[in-house]
Amino acid sequence: MNKITRTFCVALSCILASGGSLVAQNKPLVNTSKSSHAKLSSVDLGDAVWTNGFWADRFQVAQKAMVPNIWAIYNNPEVSHAFRNFEIAAGLAEGEHKGPSFHDGDFYKVLESLAATYAITKDPQLDKEMDRAIAVIAKVQQPDGYIYTPAIIQKKNDKGSGSAFQDKVNFETYNLGHLMTAACVHHRATGKTNLLNVAIKATDFLYNYYKTASPQLARNAICPSHYMGIVEMYRTTGDKKYLELAQNLINIRGLTDEGTDDNQDRIPFRDQTKAMGHAVRASYLYAGVADVYAETGDKTLLNTLDLMWDDVTQHKMYVTGGLGSLYDGVSPDGTSYNPKDVQKIHQAFGRDYQLPNHTAHNETCANIGNVLWNWRMLQLTGKAQYADVMELALYNSVLSGISLKGTEFLYTNPLAYSDELPFKQRWSKDRVGYIGLSNCCPPNVVRTVAEVNNYAYSVSDKGLWFNLYGGSKLATKLKDGSEVKLTQVTNYPWDGNINVTLDQVPRKKEFSLFMRIPGWANDAKILVNGKPADAKVTPGEYAEISGKWSKGDKVELILPMEAKLIEANPLVEETRGQVAVKRGPVVYCVESVDFPKGQDIFNVAIPADIQFTPKLIKIENSDVMSLEGKAQVVQDKEWKNQLYREVSKKDQAMQVRLVPYYAWGNRGHSEMSVWMPLNR
Ligand SMILES: [Zn+2]
Repeated sequence: MNKITRTFCVALSCILASGGSLVAQNKPLVNTSKSSHAKLSSVDLGDAVWTNGFWADRFQVAQKAMVPNIWAIYNNPEVSHAFRNFEIAAGLAEGEHKGPSFHDGDFYKVLESLAATYAITKDPQLDKEMDRAIAVIAKVQQPDGYIYTPAIIQKKNDKGSGSAFQDKVNFETYNLGHLMTAACVHHRATGKTNLLNVAIKATDFLYNYYKTASPQLARNAICPSHYMGIVEMYRTTGDKKYLELAQNLINIRGLTDEGTDDNQDRIPFRDQTKAMGHAVRASYLYAGVADVYAETGDKTLLNTLDLMWDDVTQHKMYVTGGLGSLYDGVSPDGTSYNPKDVQKIHQAFGRDYQLPNHTAHNETCANIGNVLWNWRMLQLTGKAQYADVMELALYNSVLSGISLKGTEFLYTNPLAYSDELPFKQRWSKDRVGYIGLSNCCPPNVVRTVAEVNNYAYSVSDKGLWFNLYGGSKLATKLKDGSEVKLTQVTNYPWDGNINVTLDQVPRKKEFSLFMRIPGWANDAKILVNGKPADAKVTPGEYAEISGKWSKGDKVELILPMEAKLIEANPLVEETRGQVAVKRGPVVYCVESVDFPKGQDIFNVAIPADIQFTPKLIKIENSDVMSLEGKAQVVQDKEWKNQLYREVSKKDQAMQVRLVPYYAWGNRGHSEMSVWMPLNR
């Protein structure tokens, strides 16, 4: 770069640095289009649009209720002080900082949900609202790029130094990470650089800060959303120093003796063999490391990611795809077994197979982290096992975090709830409009629901990949730039028939369609123009249908959707002798609202040969497939002051209704259970 170019470049906040370019690049949610070690890349924001069925319904609720509601909350200082904090820090209002230290980050997530929605709707009002907020955010940023409202307000009010990274449990880098991610999505959705320029200055600040910092500073990586953010900034700007920064941040983890299992930094990342600690921090860490691997191909990182994935999916994940079984726990794997020295872990993975139901923490953010991580693993490898976990979490433990109306939220996602439990759990098991100090989940679940369309399709050198099914239209480009358009019609997950019509294909070019066959789908079939496809159809793998395609070609995927009884490894004590019911990717539960008054849902047992009849019902104006069948009910219901008793033989048959787990608690306060005793 010559001197003139360099000066020009600095003036433009270096958005064209190091050969990078903001012009003519791909515009997906996560951009692996140039990542040498990712097999798949995503289609651009707006390429895939839901048209009918399950996700179209959820996106409509996102557009009409979730996004406007969360935006109103975050702009109303009477409820959430997040935006007011920015206004005070910008000198546009007076006052003190209020709210948690991760409030800035939550506001950036809300902004991201607006940007993702704008990518589909192009609603000028959204654009205007975003610009209004971004102007204030830009005004808060310090000349060196630092931006963190608690410290800046403190300095303004002459109450502290206002300098960076004073407290290791502050969420400064978490906030910055969400700023970077939101900025990349906003830039790709709108073409604008107003938020991106703020993010560039902030990433430069982090780069300069860590360049001179000691390894002790790695401790500031609480809840590392910034690994994902920094790599995405590298992908957007092409600035290689960002990738260097992301690599360094991982390399310096675990180098001091003050690390903890809770924060995944007691042991250097590459030496870890088990997933441990805070489940949001863990899943965000793994997702960020996967992003670094996509760019560098550093196998030592992938080795640990593989170990973590095996550990989580084989020992620590709920049947709903939820992560983090313990609200408070201890990590005896730490430096000492001395009871005085064991380390506290919080909102964390338990021991292998330690998966309690009533007290399951399963923070909505951790379940979203599971989606973010598995999405990246899918892009790296093209392996359907990752799409399976992603889909499981999305349909169950992510959607359970938000009401069907889109305006109430759960912070934790337990697998059972009973009014009889004689202790108060710390977090509400009824969805609420605002969670207060732990309001991290609502903006996270809103942005996630608004973005699901971006996970539906991918492209690779060989063709087009179907990851998630749902009624949609796709207009995208294959890797070589040739255009493909298609229509997918389906009522999945309520129905297993998926019909794809190719509306436009490149001429004289062979390419493959890769249809995901979910791991639960035995006997799936694929037809091309009515005839069995020449493809290997194996559950848990993508079926590749190769060939030359013509406009109007039809591909039909038929997935058997019978309800199945699922059991857990007997080492999971809490579910021994019990079953969960699953139909396709959807996990079911019983809810007291469906039972006669006085009939305890915990007295229901499921016969091994139960026949379920699917029945479409409406809950909160949303189509929901319920399951009806004949179960056994124990009539002895008095447990008062008894811990043990003789088994009753007074069973009787009773018709029961099950509803999808994600829909629980939408018909007023209710008791609920996913696991039910099995009657063999
Ligand atoms: Zn959260």
